[in-house]
Amino acid sequence: MALLELNDVSVHYGRIQAIHDMTIHVDQGEIVSLIGANGAGKTTTMRAIAGLLGLSHGSIMFDGEDISSTKAHLRVVRGVSLTPEGRGIFPSMTVMENLDMGAFARKDKSGMAEDFERVFDLFPRLKERQKQHGGTMSGGEQQMLAIGRALMGHPKLLLLDEPSMGLAPQFIRQIFRIIKEVNDQGTTVLLVEQNANQALKLANRAYVLETGHITREGSGTELASDDAVRAAYLGA
Ligand code: ATP
Repeated sequence: MALLELNDVSVHYGRIQAIHDMTIHVDQGEIVSLIGANGAGKTTTMRAIAGLLGLSHGSIMFDGEDISSTKAHLRVVRGVSLTPEGRGIFPSMTVMENLDMGAFARKDKSGMAEDFERVFDLFPRLKERQKQHGGTMSGGEQQMLAIGRALMGHPKLLLLDEPSMGLAPQFIRQIFRIIKEVNDQGTTVLLVEQNANQALKLANRAYVLETGHITREGSGTELASDDAVRAAYLGA
């Protein structure tokens, strides 16, 4: 069953059209990757799904309901959490305070306690550094914090915008391993990446986005062995 559906979605910045008639879906339990070059429209797509940008055409269905005009914070309440590109953590707040911010919409104390445990199991480093200010953490640690914060909203759908950007190879491997683990625990994932190699390996299905248009769709393995995709995105 589709958890998320974008139907004929277009997004404009003033007169510039960044997304053209995009139709994609993410099924319950899947990891779906959206790959594309700089400026293809990946971040725009994520911001539109999160409700941070309005649609000029089309609709977004989530969990059986039309959320096209639902405000961003209410999409979080419904189960959509975004880990933005560049992480967007609060630098002057501690790790604990950052994680708390991710749970702003929740009132279920026992569920929150479980999710703190879940986040600390996934990221032991965050458990060790609970009192450290976010801004003094390394790039990889900040990325972990950003994902941890999104998980504190107990999302049905986790939107990850370039989680591997700017990270050292050891952190990149770790982040991808953790995304798989989060998904195994039942969270559906939509992943945007320039690191197409890893993103296709991880994904059940993937889409290729070129200058605002979806140009290809297939299983991760299909796209990873497609000559045009390999030439454009896998450096083959
Ligand atoms: P990158 O990987 O470089 O972040 P991207 O695939 O995420 O790229 P977007 O950031 O979604 O791409 O940008 C898509 C297009 O929309 C680009 O041509 C970009 O210049 C344009 N764009 C993005 N934000 C704005 C804005 N605030 N005003 C005008 N144009 C914008």
